[in-house]
Amino acid sequence: MKAPLEILKNKFGYSSFRNAQENIITSILNKQDTLVLMPTGGGKSLCYQIPALIFDGLTVVVSPLIALMKDQVDALKLNGIPAAYFNSTLSASEQNKLIKQLQKNEIKLLYLAPERLVGAESGFLNFLKSLNVDLFAIDEAHCISHWGHDFRPEYSMLSRLREVFKGVPVMALTATADKLTRKDIAEKLHLQSPKIFISSFDRKNISYKVAPKRNSFGKLLDFLGEHREDAGIIYVLSRASTEDLAERLNDEGFSAKPYHAGLNREVREQHQDMFLRDEVKIIVATIAFGMGIDKSNVRFVVHMDLPKNIESYYQETGRAGRDGLKSSALLFYSYADVVKLKSFIEIEGNAIQTQVLEKKLNEMAEFGDLRTCRRKYILNYFDEEADSYCGNCDICLTDVEKFDGTLIAQKALSAIARLEERFGVSYVIDFLRGSQSAKIWDQHKQLKTYGVGAEISKEDWRRYINDLMHLGYLQKEDGKYPLLKLTEKSWPVLHGKENVMLIATISDKEAVEEANVTAYDNGLFTVLKTLRNQLAQKEGVPAYIIFSDSTLQELATYLPEHTSQLRQISGFGEVKTEKYGKLFLKKITGYMEENNLTSRMTLKNPKKFRNSRKTKSKRSKEDTKAISFNLYQEGNSIEEIARLRELNASTIMGHLSHFILEGNLEIHEFVSKEKVHLISKAVALHGDAALNPIKNEVGDAVTYGDIRMVINHLKRKHSI
Ligand code: ADP
Ligand code: ZN
Repeated sequence: MKAPLEILKNKFGYSSFRNAQENIITSILNKQDTLVLMPTGGGKSLCYQIPALIFDGLTVVVSPLIALMKDQVDALKLNGIPAAYFNSTLSASEQNKLIKQLQKNEIKLLYLAPERLVGAESGFLNFLKSLNVDLFAIDEAHCISHWGHDFRPEYSMLSRLREVFKGVPVMALTATADKLTRKDIAEKLHLQSPKIFISSFDRKNISYKVAPKRNSFGKLLDFLGEHREDAGIIYVLSRASTEDLAERLNDEGFSAKPYHAGLNREVREQHQDMFLRDEVKIIVATIAFGMGIDKSNVRFVVHMDLPKNIESYYQETGRAGRDGLKSSALLFYSYADVVKLKSFIEIEGNAIQTQVLEKKLNEMAEFGDLRTCRRKYILNYFDEEADSYCGNCDICLTDVEKFDGTLIAQKALSAIARLEERFGVSYVIDFLRGSQSAKIWDQHKQLKTYGVGAEISKEDWRRYINDLMHLGYLQKEDGKYPLLKLTEKSWPVLHGKENVMLIATISDKEAVEEANVTAYDNGLFTVLKTLRNQLAQKEGVPAYIIFSDSTLQELATYLPEHTSQLRQISGFGEVKTEKYGKLFLKKITGYMEENNLTSRMTLKNPKKFRNSRKTKSKRSKEDTKAISFNLYQEGNSIEEIARLRELNASTIMGHLSHFILEGNLEIHEFVSKEKVHLISKAVALHGDAALNPIKNEVGDAVTYGDIRMVINHLKRKHSI
């Protein structure tokens, strides 16, 4: 029997397993029922593809989308693996040919839609029984559950598999399933004491950013301007706006196509195909677009409108960066969207269901309003622990500026007191701004505080009120109409005994670019992309199936010159090296000659560069920290390093704090004894999950950088 690792290397051209892949494969090889939860891009496919190559017989893969099957099968074939799909797009003679191949055990992986497997006349199931089936893999397994977000009735019938094929392991795979759905999947499929593998849902390569939804078209153009070469998806709420926005973007010189369920099928498929084949860069879509989009090089996902819940947001943004390369998620947020969506989600006659949906919507709104790490919020939402600083979301990457907001706080608090704590945020704001609306009670219009905050915009008021809540000067009651209430902390402010610092602006300063250590040659990258496109056209497959962007970038980084060196590049398995190796080498060596370059293969440390793309992005992060560390060791101050590297001082402090955690640097080199003491006390009081409460406690003399360093110092101290 071949070892899984050997197959990974030879057939797929990868040098090590990711996540729990290896353990999952072992579980399957031991013939155990298995449930796999792994985020998009995590590498689920290999978990059944490798066992399929080890088993003698057939592996049946159930997948809901015909379009996806073809891509998967094409990709396997390019690696020299005998795979096929059986669906209505095959002609009668193709079907007959395939049946013969299956009978002769010439196929290792067979992809099917669920209705084919256990349709009304279960002829196909009987046929499979006559074959030697070793494994059933059920992809997108959440489709079997009503609790999932994408229930498909045809999945229900899969429950029969377990009885009909006794002793054949059944494997369920999905990228989204909360606890309830997980349990439901295992029950509905009748899995027998399944082994369950849950990977982290952190999509580290995706950066999250929220921008106020004001002049969003202009901001979108700026954003797209920075992504001229990239493919991306823009989600909007309505069908009409997909067409509208696509047209406006085309007028601005971008290549964009609309996609929504109301377009006729031909047009829809054509637009999707063009996107998959990189002939059009941008798809402007409703949420109808995306399920089963396997395109690995989607670099950005923009939400022009607010999604209904965090699950949808996570899934939609998750379509970016499947290849593990840096990608962006941008959300335009305004509270007006929440109000609009509230009217949509109301399910008449079902108060409980409506309440659940409202709660989810409120949580989505909370995400938009966050002043703490967005990644942490998402992970916590899915019951996963997370650091309070991810370094890759807008909150973590912007310096916040504070100002004395005592007067603003007093206005808000006294308005709430005058309104006897009986109103919600929207009413309070309208009241503060002196709205003429009939909604405001007449007797309220007589109050002294009516209109005292007219000079502040609604959006700003919303942010300030949120800040006041975060700071504990206000609280919001739970319930359908959450009322604003004062707290004990409100009174000293109202009596002028305490000053309040509010966050001025989250400046739109672009995220601090991490130094790109493994810089690739962009010219060569373009040359290789052209070659890849030619090959893709010849083979009739999307370009990324030939090689992913990250494989091409690796070539353009290390400049291999010989076939043997190609095998060290991620994605070059035996078959692809044989088939395409020479073509790519020719382009590379030609380019090297023209530009007088020499190979950098020696820089490629095979051990370190295990080529899981994940380790790679981690590596460049580690390297950027190491660079700061080395500069520091050479005697440069933090400010000098910041200047040298064109990064923020707080970023450099973030880098160095890593080495405090590791024990290579001492806290007292950076932060005075008094401050360490002060911060430690605040950490003891508030915990280290969020920086804001600590910062509020310690005051302005202490920076966020100081706090981060002290937290790591404490972590180090407690771990040894
Ligand atoms: P999922 O189905 O979980 O969304 P895929 O199975 O499509 O993810 O894998 C995403 C990408 O990662 C694919 O291009 C795949 O070839 C690649 N990949 C998977 N496992 C590894 C690994 N161990 N090393 C390198 N690349 C991998
Ligand atoms: Zn963050």
